[in-house]
Amino acid sequence: MLYSNEKINAKNKKTIKEEILKLKIEKNALILAHHYQSMEIKEISDFVGDSLELSKIATKVDSNYIVFCGVHFMAESAKILSPEKRVFLPNTDARCPMADMVTKERLETMKAEFPDAKVVAYVNSSAEVKSISDICCTSSNAVNIVKHLEAKEIIFVPDQNLGAYVSKFCPEKTIHLWKGFCPTHHRVIGAEVQNICDRYPSAKLFVHPECRPEVLEMADFIGSTAQIIKACETSEEHSFIIGTEKGVIDTLRAVHPEKEFYMMDDTMVCKNMKKTTLEDVLKSLKESYGEIQVEPEVGARAKSAIFKMIERS
Ligand code: SF4
Repeated sequence: MLYSNEKINAKNKKTIKEEILKLKIEKNALILAHHYQSMEIKEISDFVGDSLELSKIATKVDSNYIVFCGVHFMAESAKILSPEKRVFLPNTDARCPMADMVTKERLETMKAEFPDAKVVAYVNSSAEVKSISDICCTSSNAVNIVKHLEAKEIIFVPDQNLGAYVSKFCPEKTIHLWKGFCPTHHRVIGAEVQNICDRYPSAKLFVHPECRPEVLEMADFIGSTAQIIKACETSEEHSFIIGTEKGVIDTLRAVHPEKEFYMMDDTMVCKNMKKTTLEDVLKSLKESYGEIQVEPEVGARAKSAIFKMIERS
């Protein structure tokens, strides 16, 4: 019976995919998927990438209807960069717990405590937080942005692990770290990483800077999702332990079956990133469900913080 159910599900999924593709053409819609999305979502998407890369693509295409398969702050960033376009988050419950760890009000309190400090906001933050920040950063350019910012004192929000990593390269600066973290990366401790490294001694350890400092110290390579994928592709090594969300390994295994990829820890699955289903995408296209709204003034200030980063990257 299980076999029959599987067949029915596969048939349903095929029908849903066909409907999505039909509606996509009718509406001249663009579907974007973050690397951490499930494979079936990536398969129906026009582009797969990291959050900022996808938002930049949204500004360049002629489509005015963007379905962003990711979490809320990502679709919000796309809307900030393209306020004239309609941007949709197909599953409105998909939020980033780390982005939600900093609010505009609490950041204002911290700014008052350190009035000379400039605020660097990781793009994994809300439009409101970006709007009261001096500049944004991504995990790939954070060191560069902080190093070259004209300020000795910096408030870095919201990821304490990325902030601590940046601090190591900028000893001349005083960096006040917000105590946020990504539950998917932060939950893995050094002893667990040591176990898997012992199990696969010839594998190289490639990790995301949202991991704990003790894990970063063990790594052979530290980089953003896109940088990890590129480094695996260009490396002459054969096997890798990947310290980021499972979606990255799914992509690497599909594209490079000749190489071996192991998850640093089986729990590295972002529940929020996996909330979006094919049914959600179909509903979003059919009913214009999940449209993102950003208050124009907030959006304009947030856009300025993002643009300052883009100019310097
Ligand atoms: S993986 Fe972490 S940072 Fe990314 S969306 Fe999930 S909780 Fe947020």
